[in-house]
Amino acid sequence: MIVILLGAPGVGKGTQAAAAAETQGWTHLSTGEVLRNEVAQGTELGLTAQSYMDRGDLVPDEVILGMVSARLAEVSAGETLLLDGFPRTLAQASALEAQTAPGAISAALYFTASDDTLVNRLHGRGRKDDDRSVIEHRLAVYRETTAPLIDFYQSKGLLREINAERSIDAIQADTVEAVTVCLQNMELQG
Ligand code: AMP
Repeated sequence: MIVILLGAPGVGKGTQAAAAAETQGWTHLSTGEVLRNEVAQGTELGLTAQSYMDRGDLVPDEVILGMVSARLAEVSAGETLLLDGFPRTLAQASALEAQTAPGAISAALYFTASDDTLVNRLHGRGRKDDDRSVIEHRLAVYRETTAPLIDFYQSKGLLREINAERSIDAIQADTVEAVTVCLQNMELQG
């Protein structure tokens, strides 16, 4: 079963996915994390991705899809996979749908917070792409290219909104609850 975590940079998707995966035995796949590892290891993929990431641009779809396709193909029946930072474009969302079994995507959790909160959280993180001008650009890219996925998953009846303006613990409780409901529904449909 796949659950997508949607929301702007800085909203806390990664923190939430990591904590839920850890306590619940779910799998967490962060494309940003995979890319940062590739950059750190100086691989060809990392070298390709780095300039996009440093500017706050999206890494091209074909690079991302090449990176995640093998992983998506091996999602097992009993596995609960939290996708964090993927898909980020409509092309990626279509590819995800094409590469997974019908019904495998159970929900898209949409984490919401005000722009002020996002910018404050991004400044607090100290990552290389969290510099002020890069932050502005990443938020603009999000609004332009990734935000349309909200309507895409809404129209499929998969969108679940989570207010991420609260404490990490409160958001975590809702995150675990939303995924647990998906698992229960899946069992009922058996
Ligand atoms: P994140 O850790 O999710 O904030 O991702 C960090 C950076 O990695 C982004 O700003 C993009 O440059 C790149 N990235 C991560 N995931 C994707 C994706 N699905 N599509 C394109 N670029 C991505």
